[in-house]
Amino acid sequence: MADPFRKSDEEWRELLTPEQYEVCRRKGTERAFTGRYWDCKDTGIYRCACCGSELFSSEAKFDSGTGWPSFWQAMDPDRVRVSDDLTYGMHRIEVTCSRCDAHLGHLFDDGPEPTGQRYCINSVALGLDRKAEKE
Ligand SMILES: [Zn+2]
Repeated sequence: MADPFRKSDEEWRELLTPEQYEVCRRKGTERAFTGRYWDCKDTGIYRCACCGSELFSSEAKFDSGTGWPSFWQAMDPDRVRVSDDLTYGMHRIEVTCSRCDAHLGHLFDDGPEPTGQRYCINSVALGLDRKAEKE
């Protein structure tokens, strides 16, 4: 059975905006302080821009000062996948959507309590569902 969340590059290119495609499928990074959500304080659920999977809650969002939306935990550890990223001569931890493999951002260990983690995520990789939390 075909997995609806595994698509070819061509299919993603048609579905996504050029900026989303560059970040989510080509592992790009949006410029700091330019995204939709770095300064957003609305409550809701942040979903994957590619497949709609619920990834982060506004309750775990904090102001990291980096210019990217930052979260101290994922809604469910199974919804995101972390892996080593050795590009640009650095050792970073890449965060991807476990359902559709979208590149989301990186995970750092300088976040606030209680986890000490900082998910540094690109705004274009997310879509805020403002109603989800009230249901
Ligand atoms: Zn996804």
